[in-house]
Amino acid sequence: MADAVNQPGPVAELWEWQYQGACRTASPEVFFHPEGERGPARRRRDERAKQVCATCPVLLECRTQALEAREPYGVWGGMTEDERQAYHDAVDAGETPVLPEITARPATSPLTTPEAS
Ligand code: SF4
Repeated sequence: MADAVNQPGPVAELWEWQYQGACRTASPEVFFHPEGERGPARRRRDERAKQVCATCPVLLECRTQALEAREPYGVWGGMTEDERQAYHDAVDAGETPVLPEITARPATSPLTTPEAS
């Protein structure tokens, strides 16, 4: 029998925020680009997804998870895959990363951007 003390704790609580996502009822096609999509069509779709994210009560949790997991595809937490890649590139280069402004919720995480002055 496995040693219960050394077993990982329940992980359901770590993911519960996903049930509150504003994208729960949205089409995944808004958040993930089809193969070969580029230019204005891609920008418009990304902006539509980011508009949904801007209304999301769990944007911060989603963004944090996507950055920590280095999520390679789609819009997560109001960031496109290119914006997340730029974030990681800056961190890897020892630079201060730039994050899209969060307007839906108050800043409560080190991942949030400072208030515009
Ligand atoms: S921040 Fe965007 S991608 Fe993340 S759960 Fe909310 S609506 Fe979905």
